[in-house]
Amino acid sequence: MLITQDLEKLLALQAVDVGLDDVSRREAEARARLDAAQHAVAEFKELVKQEKKLLDDALKEHKTIEIEVKTQEEKVKKYTGQMYEVKTNKEYTALKEEIDKAKGESGKMEDRLLQLMLKEDELKGAGSRRAAELAEKEKAGKAVEAEVNGELAACTKVRGDLDAQRGGMMASFGKPLLFRYEQIRSARGGAPLAKIVEAPGGGEAVCGACHVTVRPQVVVLAARQEEMVFCESCARILYLENTPAPNPA
Ligand SMILES: [Zn+2]
Repeated sequence: MLITQDLEKLLALQAVDVGLDDVSRREAEARARLDAAQHAVAEFKELVKQEKKLLDDALKEHKTIEIEVKTQEEKVKKYTGQMYEVKTNKEYTALKEEIDKAKGESGKMEDRLLQLMLKEDELKGAGSRRAAELAEKEKAGKAVEAEVNGELAACTKVRGDLDAQRGGMMASFGKPLLFRYEQIRSARGGAPLAKIVEAPGGGEAVCGACHVTVRPQVVVLAARQEEMVFCESCARILYLENTPAPNPA
């Protein structure tokens, strides 16, 4: 008894299964694309939040320093007033030192204020652009989402068709054959059947999947189609394409 029909059925099943693998790959890619798009929007929102916090902090510090500058200025005013009332050189020198100290503090704070104002300007400038930028990113994210949803719907349709095809095929398989097929598929993934092909250099026959040499005896067995032959390296079911149909007579 020849196994030609079994091989044909297995190849048809394999075509369906490889199609299902392709659908799964497309779905995974689509989901990854959506994840990336959503991540980009979330990341941008986080950036906007951080910039807003930096601005709030700068404005808070700005206010505190302004109050402190005023305090130092009042000290200077007070000490300057007192200078007219001092009676000794020592008192005068002490007051002069206090005034210099207060002025020094003020100066340092003015420098810090200048830094803060530059930072505030920069952050305010960025902030005013962010709303439009975020809207644009959200729009791009929505576009990707719509595209991905379309792709997923298409995949669901193809998967449904392939599942139906597969279901229809099942009845025609003998249990041991199907078991063997599924076993190879779960161990190797992808296609459980491999075509015997000629090695790129020519001459030698190799397994089309793992590219390991197929012994001439095995090639002969595959050509006879009297029994299933397996790759001695990857265990896939081997077949020869365009095997001349054996003469029934
Ligand atoms: Zn192989």
